[in-house]
Amino acid sequence: TSSPILLEAVGVEKRYDKFAALAGVDLKVRAHTVHSVIGPNGAGKTTLFHMLTGTKNVSGGRIVFDGHDVTHEPDHRRVQRGMARSFQVTSLFLTLPVRENLRLAAQGTAPRHALNCWHAPLGTRSQADVVASVLARLGLERHADTPVGNLSHGQQRRLEVGMALAARPKAIFLDEPTSGMGIDDLDDMKRLIQGLKDEHTVVLIEHNMNIVMDISDTVTVMQQGRVLAEGHPHAIRSDDRVRSAYLGNM
Ligand code: ATP
Repeated sequence: TSSPILLEAVGVEKRYDKFAALAGVDLKVRAHTVHSVIGPNGAGKTTLFHMLTGTKNVSGGRIVFDGHDVTHEPDHRRVQRGMARSFQVTSLFLTLPVRENLRLAAQGTAPRHALNCWHAPLGTRSQADVVASVLARLGLERHADTPVGNLSHGQQRRLEVGMALAARPKAIFLDEPTSGMGIDDLDDMKRLIQGLKDEHTVVLIEHNMNIVMDISDTVTVMQQGRVLAEGHPHAIRSDDRVRSAYLGNM
């Protein structure tokens, strides 16, 4: 694809004492694509997410988002610029209905979504519009009034994505949205993520290789804090260095 570059990392480093969790990572994420980051445990995927979204400071390098150098901007400023992150740990209000969870996220007052809560405030009317459109995306309209605790695991995981969507981001960062899911839920999550490309850009950490290969436009493979390979899923799948990094597990 040749859509414009929305997010770029240039030589991003993260050191913990002498250990380099990221040893100079370059990344270009094009708008309206699904860009996956894969790699063995400890490769630096989550650390890269921390750098891109501003939850931790870089030790070196530069991050440009939507034409702005955001390298030294705090996370909430980056949220205002249009980044939202969905967290691996569950962050939903289980006793409140689905709609109310999304309303709190759209309003920017869901405390456990503090990171995503700095987007421009919405009027009541447009809040309702955002909630309705997110409900439709999630396929949870029928469950709008259901307490979140009564949803299936897969529905709850989709709602976590929806909480980030309620901040109306340009780019949404998903860290293992499918972990621990059964087949049916996987298909729903895949469809949800692919459907986001019309309005958003998706940066995805994902361990399930079938999903990565199915839904990604671009795959970046990390190993030991560096980019080992980057390209179209087909090219990545047949890349010898990638195959040996995964010991043939693709
Ligand atoms: P996984 O797939 O297991 O989640 P990952 O690719 O996300 O792995 P990271 O969590 O980014 O990997 O970790 C990269 C490396 O940095 C690991 O070796 C980890 O032990 C190290 N690391 C992460 N955070 C710290 C820290 N606060 N202090 C020291 N080392 C750290």
